[in-house]
Amino acid sequence: MKCDVVRDLLPSYADRLTSGESNREIEKHLKTCEHCRQYYQEMTGEVPEILPKADVKDAALLAGMKKKRKRALLAAAIVIFILAAGGLWTFIGYSVGSSNVLVEDVKLSYGLKDNVAYLTLEPKGGELEFDGFTEKIKDSSGNIIGTRTRLKVQRFRKGLFVEGSMGWESEIEGDDHICEWVLEFSDKTLTIRNGELISEKDTSSLPQD
Ligand SMILES: [Zn+2]
Repeated sequence: MKCDVVRDLLPSYADRLTSGESNREIEKHLKTCEHCRQYYQEMTGEVPEILPKADVKDAALLAGMKKKRKRALLAAAIVIFILAAGGLWTFIGYSVGSSNVLVEDVKLSYGLKDNVAYLTLEPKGGELEFDGFTEKIKDSSGNIIGTRTRLKVQRFRKGLFVEGSMGWESEIEGDDHICEWVLEFSDKTLTIRNGELISEKDTSSLPQD
C-alpha cells in the first residue's frame, strides 16, 4: 500500500471504520513506514497500538543517544578548536617574536642571600632566548677572582602558552670573590655584581650588531 492511500485511510482506521483486510494492510505499512506512523501519531495524538512498546522506547532512546553523541562531538570539536587556536597563537607568537628586547619587557630581580647571589628574569608574557658565555675574572697578577656571565638577550617570544622565568645563582666564596652578570638588552646593558646593580649603560643609540 502506498503512503497516500494509507493516509487517506488513517482517519477511518482511527475510527475503527476500516475493514479487517484494510486494517492488516494499514498496520503492515505502519510497521515499516515511520512517516505514516508519525502522521498517524500527530493525527490521533497516540502511538499506534500495532507498534510493540519496546520499539517506541528504543526509538526514543536511540534519539536520545544520538543527541548525546552530537553534544559529545560538539564538545570535542570545541576542545580541538581551542587547542588548535592555542597552538596557532603560540606559533604566531614564536614567529612574530621580537629580537628587539627591552629591559621593560622583563621583570628583573636580583640580590644576595646567605652569600648566594641570584638573578631572576621573568619575561612579561613570553620567553627569552639568550646567547651567553661565562668568563673568568682575573686580578692584575693573573689570579682568578671570580666569574662574569654575559647574557645577550636574542629574542623575546610571545605566545599564550609561552611563559618562562629563568634564574641563576652563584655562591660568593670569600670577600674578594666576584660574581658578575652582564645582561645585554636592546636598549640597555646591565651589570649586576654580587647581587647589586653596578652599571646601567644606555645602548639604544649604538648600532646593533
Ligand atoms: Zn507510508
